[in-house]
Amino acid sequence: MTARRERILRGVSVSHGFARGPVHLHRSVLPEPDERVLASGQVKAELARFRAAVAATRDELSGLAERVRKEMGRDFAEFIEVQLALLGDGDVLASTERYIAEKGRNAEFAYLETLKSLTRPMAGSGVALFQERMLDVIDVGRRVLGRLGGEAPESLHSVAPGSIVVAHDLPPSEAALLNPELVRGLVLESGGRTSHTAIMAKAKEIPAVVGVEMACKAASTGQPAIVDGYRGLAVLNPSRQRTRAYEGEMARYERYRQSLTAVAGEEPVTTDGRFIDLSANIEFLAEARSALKYGARGIGLFRTEYIFLARMRPPTEEEQYEVLAEVVRLLNPLPVIVRTFDLGGDKLIPGYSESNPFLGWRGLRLCFDNPEMLRTQLRAILRASAHGTVKVMFPMVSVLEELRRALLVVEAVKRELKRDGQEFDPGVEIGVMVETPSAALLAGELARHCSFLSIGSNDLTQYTLAVDRGNERVAGLYDHFHPAILQLIKHSIDAAHRHGIWVGLCGEFASDPLGIVVLLGMGIDELSVTPALLPEAKNIIRSIDTRAAAEVAESVLKLATAVEVRRLLNREVHRRFPQLARFMFKPENGPGKDEGEQRDNGEGVDVD
Ligand code: PEP
Ligand code: MG
Repeated sequence: MTARRERILRGVSVSHGFARGPVHLHRSVLPEPDERVLASGQVKAELARFRAAVAATRDELSGLAERVRKEMGRDFAEFIEVQLALLGDGDVLASTERYIAEKGRNAEFAYLETLKSLTRPMAGSGVALFQERMLDVIDVGRRVLGRLGGEAPESLHSVAPGSIVVAHDLPPSEAALLNPELVRGLVLESGGRTSHTAIMAKAKEIPAVVGVEMACKAASTGQPAIVDGYRGLAVLNPSRQRTRAYEGEMARYERYRQSLTAVAGEEPVTTDGRFIDLSANIEFLAEARSALKYGARGIGLFRTEYIFLARMRPPTEEEQYEVLAEVVRLLNPLPVIVRTFDLGGDKLIPGYSESNPFLGWRGLRLCFDNPEMLRTQLRAILRASAHGTVKVMFPMVSVLEELRRALLVVEAVKRELKRDGQEFDPGVEIGVMVETPSAALLAGELARHCSFLSIGSNDLTQYTLAVDRGNERVAGLYDHFHPAILQLIKHSIDAAHRHGIWVGLCGEFASDPLGIVVLLGMGIDELSVTPALLPEAKNIIRSIDTRAAAEVAESVLKLATAVEVRRLLNREVHRRFPQLARFMFKPENGPGKDEGEQRDNGEGVDVD
């Protein structure tokens, strides 16, 4: 019997909850087939064998795309369409066939050499999007090489029920069809909170931790593991003591989730009768369905960047219209706030990179320099407004001129649509995201020109505190409870109200229980959160008296540091709203008390 040491690996949580089960290690690597020299008469048969493998893979991927279209929506199926396009890429096929015919090598080797020449420049680029594209190439390659070897490649669609999948990242063909019955938890080496896999895990409510360095090296198939989606930990070979502690925690979490579902049909109204528009943030149609299931009052933020990124090219008006209209029809009569492309920043466009993307060519700035892209998107959004209630929201506004200019484009597009005889809602409301300090300070000026404001606390925090939101090294400084952020939020809310418009908040701050208390105390009108967090947010809203919350907000606004704010909030919220504790799942100290380190645990125990 060999002793297996417990290992605690640290990452970033992208989907809450806990999972326990055996590891299934999923490797997205290209196999290394042997090089074979063909006899002169074998070339024709080899070419035919290669074409047959490509055709079989095409059938397989087309079938998958169809399934994804049905189960997840046409928007996510686009990711698989990209893989299909890659499979059918004329240059790749021609170059492989040339290799077979001219160098007289076997199809496996010729295809692998061609793919390698494609991925080499991507591998060294360090650009997140290229890493994702590389996964596509590898996935397509695995499938074709598998067919050449006479077998279908290994797939997560057939792992043992209850597995914890450990991988570098998953290609879209696997991520889109993740089955929560089979895959209980996910541990990924890749770091992106905004990667398609992270978003899918969140949409399917699979506890997931990303950015776990060396996870694939540390894990092996079959070993027991725990995913702690609260603390952002993956525990391999958990000790008996830790397993027991987690069992208790998981049972508590289950009871907590059950207690939340009881309010699905209730209104998001505070104890003193204030209605808060509780909406959902989505990226895909599948999330819009979850939003409705959890009783959202609308979509507070539809991030449209994926409509672009899934295709690797600007989507056509018709493609955008179809995706948007489907969501709008589903939600009708509830409103859908569609944000125009916020590309750049952490959502880099293919083939373009800059040294300081968050301060560079991002959001509206990028759109103004690509007028056709903005015009096409606005046409699609406005046309979708014929099917329900649509509002348009502009991201990354930092100066008033940007809003003025964007409004002129909207008017021009409306004139065009009228001329073309296209239906749309002429009264579509226009809103602005307050996510730069300048927008917050000038919220009153912005409010004069639009119908609503929505505070993007994720960016507002990074720009105000000068802390890159995706950089783990400075993550300790990234705190939305910093008094500077709170003052900017309060200033924006007051300015919006002075000008008679409503104001919401759609960043992560809206899902923080203590954040909700402060925001309600400051007079926020709308909160928009990830669908799965809607029940928790609604319970919290229903437990708060806004007059008492206003007193708490007033006190925290006088403080100087985030630590003081948190301390006061913890004390005051528990004193004034003791009932809130029921709706705030707090992991106990036990199971992950030594979180934050990646190492062999000194007290490793024999688990065999
Ligand atoms: C934000 O910045 O708070 C926000 C909601 O937008 P995103 O996270 O997409 O930048
Ligand atoms: Mg933002």
